[in-house]
Amino acid sequence: MSLPLSKVPFLKKRVKFPVTPHIPGGLTNPDQLRNLAAVAEKYGGTLKIVGNSITIMGLNLVDGEKALAELGAKPESFIAKSVRPVSMCPGKPNCPMAQQESTELGLALDEEFFGQDAPAKIRIGVSGCPNCCAEVFVKDIGLYGTAKGYVLAVGGNSGRKAQIAQVVADNIPEQDVALIIRNILVYFRNNGQTKERLGQTIERLGWYDFKTTAIPEQYRK
Ligand code: SF4
Repeated sequence: MSLPLSKVPFLKKRVKFPVTPHIPGGLTNPDQLRNLAAVAEKYGGTLKIVGNSITIMGLNLVDGEKALAELGAKPESFIAKSVRPVSMCPGKPNCPMAQQESTELGLALDEEFFGQDAPAKIRIGVSGCPNCCAEVFVKDIGLYGTAKGYVLAVGGNSGRKAQIAQVVADNIPEQDVALIIRNILVYFRNNGQTKERLGQTIERLGWYDFKTTAIPEQYRK
């Protein structure tokens, strides 16, 4: 994904804006942090930790584009109508409660889906157990692990019209999760309307229509 910031219309009116390099899963290392700190210092920015990301604040448009290029990362800034970075909890083997390897799955989903176009933002969350530390029920697409595989909840969001996701499938093996998300994105691209989150599209067209279109029968709830 390329994003020349100067092509984003509303940015031209802004004097300052945040620059957020994509850090998949929030998993970083000392070299990356040193580089981030050095770039922030070079352009006079301040750093803020936001969820799984670190934002350089206070840069102008020209310096922001240079900073992103120097960081060598995809930007998380200004990607409204697309799949956002995938949230994931530690999962196996790093959490004693975990029943599935949520970080491994989350990184694979992030690699495939982050930045893909959609009618509105799509947030995906993956948790290793029913405690749902990755806030699965307020994600457009949420997954949590059980001993039998993943449970899929769809249609949540914590935005202007907050909505709780509904469970639409269970016992999904890890290797089939991406296929189902591809189906869901096709459904949303075919049916989503302006300013409508996935859950609102499903509410408008009906859950039966959504499930029979996007969820394989053997996993459907
Ligand atoms: S959701 Fe479960 S596996 Fe993940 S961090 Fe929370 S308790 Fe651990």
